[in-house]
Order: sequence, then structure tokens, then C-alpha cells
Amino acid sequence: MKTFESLNPATGEVVGEFPVTSTKEVNEAVARAQVASDKWSQLSFRKRLVILKDWASLLTREINTAAELIHRETGKPVSDATLETAMAIEHISWAAKYAPKVLGSQNRPSGLLMFNLSAQVQRVPFGVVGVIGPWNYPIFTPMGSIAYALAAGNAVVFKPSEFTPAIGVWLEQTWQRIAPFADIFTVVTGTAETGVALTQSSVGKISFTGSTRTAKKVAAACAELMTPVVLECGGKDPVLVDKDADIKRAAEVTLWHAMSNAGQSCIGAERVYVHKDVADLFTRTIVELAEKIKPGYEDGANYGPATMPSQLKVIKSHIDDAVKRGGEFLVGDKNAVKGGYVQPVILRNVPEDSKAMTEETFGPTLVINTVRNMDEAVDLANATSYGLGAAVWSKRNGKKIASLLQCGMVSINSAFSFAAIGAVPFGGVKDSGYGRIHGAEGLLEFTYPRTVVKTKFNIPLHFTTFARTGFADKTIIRLINILHRRRR
Ligand code: NAD
Repeated sequence: MKTFESLNPATGEVVGEFPVTSTKEVNEAVARAQVASDKWSQLSFRKRLVILKDWASLLTREINTAAELIHRETGKPVSDATLETAMAIEHISWAAKYAPKVLGSQNRPSGLLMFNLSAQVQRVPFGVVGVIGPWNYPIFTPMGSIAYALAAGNAVVFKPSEFTPAIGVWLEQTWQRIAPFADIFTVVTGTAETGVALTQSSVGKISFTGSTRTAKKVAAACAELMTPVVLECGGKDPVLVDKDADIKRAAEVTLWHAMSNAGQSCIGAERVYVHKDVADLFTRTIVELAEKIKPGYEDGANYGPATMPSQLKVIKSHIDDAVKRGGEFLVGDKNAVKGGYVQPVILRNVPEDSKAMTEETFGPTLVINTVRNMDEAVDLANATSYGLGAAVWSKRNGKKIASLLQCGMVSINSAFSFAAIGAVPFGGVKDSGYGRIHGAEGLLEFTYPRTVVKTKFNIPLHFTTFARTGFADKTIIRLINILHRRRR
């Protein structure tokens, strides 16, 4: 059996050794999940609610174990890992509670032409949903698909990132402790090839979270089999700071927005567009705060190492390119990438067409560019191939500015907050992907609509027959004229 190791990025310690699940084994896991899904989908919403609540409760009791494992496998601080797990638990609970309301059958009006029929829309689970996850939030991010797919009545086969298999396997073990029967939620560990096998299996839907580059391959593989897919990809999130913003708060939150989790957040701040009237104050405030934060693995460190070492090269190349093209360091210098860590970097006056402004950096770096007004800020914020999240800081114009942004999620006078609210959808547009997790939209995403129309009573007029009479034709014309013809 082929295996791979998961390493602690801070210490090099081996966290665990895991099988590279083969194509044959993936197909077997999906086949077993298919059998389980028949039973799982037959349970009432109420029964699934009780089981999912049991899982949420077990994870709550074991939150410290989860956080410690995430800390070891990603290098992030224990408190961040705890927050991430708490948010994942909240989503399990929300999905379970609201599934009956969102996914219950709906009666629809049948219209005058078809008045003798009743019309209903039912929501049907896909059977098995394949979830492919990234490493940056190894419990929170995939849970946005897992919990919602399970609550909607699907079985799930989950392929965690090869950088965080231990937390994936631990999740499966906790599920097994409360599961009513086997194979409702299965984890298949492995590298990209295991992910490929899942996209080529007979799952009913794929929910992928990861880079845009991989998302395009996943979408292409799914297209071959007509498998529907949700794609949650990268971002280049802008922060827009207007002249009436609470600058102290905007600077404090934006620093965390950019640097927490070592900048490895799909919805992390990467670009700031600040109004010229407050640019100096904002810059001074954020620089002062940034100089106090430090990366490390020990208690009290603000963020950890880069979880995926190959990203260090990308981060360095973005910093070097920005500086070569006229960007100036406000915090950090060209030696910021050292060992497995990246020291905080804040740059200003970076050209809009440099890598640091157009590609996802995924490190604790931030660019601050000054704008003449918020129209210019909106234009620059939208001038990107990505469209995941954004933040707007303004006391009076937040909603107006937010309405002009091409992205899936905007927070006004806060950051990241939408991710923790069960009721709202999470996802992006453009290169940031399509489809949604979280909220009612996330539950609907893991079902398809089935229309059921039933004859309530027979009428003498038959339209759907070769024996249709001239009288029936005339009646249709008469009715359609009554309904839709306007007097001139
Ligand atoms: P990645 O694309 O390298 O890998 C993601 C997953 O896909 C991994 O499990 C990997 O093994 C698997 N995979 C790789 N090749 C595959 C293939 N050909 N077919 C099927 N599966 C394949 O991404 P990553 O480095 O793990 O994650 C970081 C990226 O994820 C960043 O771009 C980040 O912005 C994005 N992300 C997005 C969200 C969101 O909700 N939009 C959340 C977290 C992370």
C-alpha cells in the first residue's frame, strides 16, 4: 500500500502516515456510501437533526483535541484552531436545524391553464457528494460542504488535503462514534491522484475547495461525466477605506484580516484602497500595530509558519516583483521570507499590474494604495480576475459602496464575519468559483429540484392527447387572449 506522511510545518515532526487511497478503493468507498445514502436519505429531517446535533456536541466536548491536532498539522496558533473548530460546529448545527425549513416540499400555483393540476417542488439529495478540501482551514472549510450535504440527506466521501489528512481522519472517527450505521461519512486520504479518482467516480456531486488552477481541472473532469460541481476557489480580496471610516478600528481589523493564519485565507485581505484624506492616518496606525505582531509556533505567537512550504517561493516572488516595480516597504523588508516563516510585510504604491496586485499571494503581506475617491477604489477593487470577498470601511456609505463590488461576500465595518453566520451563503464569482456553501443556498446546493404535478380532477377538455378537439384549441386561444393580450 502506498502511503504518505503529514508533517508539522513548524517542527518537521511526522504527525502521521496515511494511505494514498487508490482509484479502486475510492470507487469502493463511493459504492458503500451509495448504499448508506439510500438509508440516510430515508430518515426524517428530525432524525438526521438529532444525529448531526450529537456530532456537534461531541466535537464541542473534544474541541481541544481538534485544535491541538490542527495546530500540529498546520502550524497555526491553538486559539485560531479553536475558533475555526467552533465555527465548523456552528455550521453543523445551523444546517441540521434549517434543513427541514429550506428543503421541505413546496406547493406552487399551477396557473389558470392547468387549474385542475396540483404542482409541487421536492428537493432530492444527490446520493453521494464527494468533498475535496484544502489545508488552510482543514475543519471549517470542508465542513461548509460536509454538514450541509449530510443535512440534506446525502452520504459524503471526503478527500482532505494531503497537508492535513490527520484532522480529516479524526473527523471521520468522531462521526463513527455517533453514526447510526456505517458509510454515511467516509474519509479517503491521498494526494491529487485520490482527488482525481473521486471526480471520476460515480458521486452525484462534487464540492471542491482549493486553488483556481485545480478547480479548472476538477470542473473539466466533472464535465466528462456531467457531474455537477461547486467550486470554492481563491481570492484577491480588497479592503476599501473611505474618508469617514473609523480609522483606528479599520486599521486594527484589516491587519488581522491580512495576517491571521499567516495570510493563508481565501478571504484574507490582500489589497487596501484608502481615501487620500485618511491615507496617512490609516497607514501610520496599521504600521504601528503591525510592528508588534510576530510569527512563531510557541504560545503567544500571532500566526504560524507557511503550512505548504512551496508557497514561500510565491510569496517572495510577489514581494520582489512589487518592490522592483516601485513598491515601498512600510513594514518588513526583502528578507521577510526566512526559514518556514514570513515576517509581516506591508507595501505601498505598488503598481496595479504587478503580481502582488493580480495573483493570490496567500501570505502575511498587504499592499496599501491611495485613491482619490471611492469610485476609483471600486474600479480598482473590481479590476481583478477574482471575486470572492471584500471589506468596506465607511460610516455613511458602506452599503452603497458594497453594492458596486463584483464579489460573493462583503463585510461593512468588519472582516471575515460572514463566514461565521450560518444563515448566509459563502462563495464567489469569476475565478473565485461558482455555487455556494452555507445558508439556505448551501442546503439547496446539495439537492436537486424534482417537480411533481398531479391531476386533482378531470375536466372535459383534454390538451395532451392526439384526440384533441377543435373546441379545445379554441379554448386555449381564448384563455391565452384573456390572460396576456393587452388592449392597445
Ligand atoms: P489545491 O488546489 O492545491 O488542492 C485542493 C485539494 O484538491 C487538495 O485536497 C488536493 O489534493 C486536491 N487536488 C489536487 N489536484 C486535484 C485534481 N486534479 N483533481 C481533484 N483533486 C485535486 O489547493 P490548496 O493549496 O489545498 O488550498 C489553497 C487554495 O484554496 C487557495 O487558493 C485558497 O484561496 C483556496 N481556498 C478557497 C476557499 C473558499 O471557500 N473559496 C476556502 C479555503 C481555501
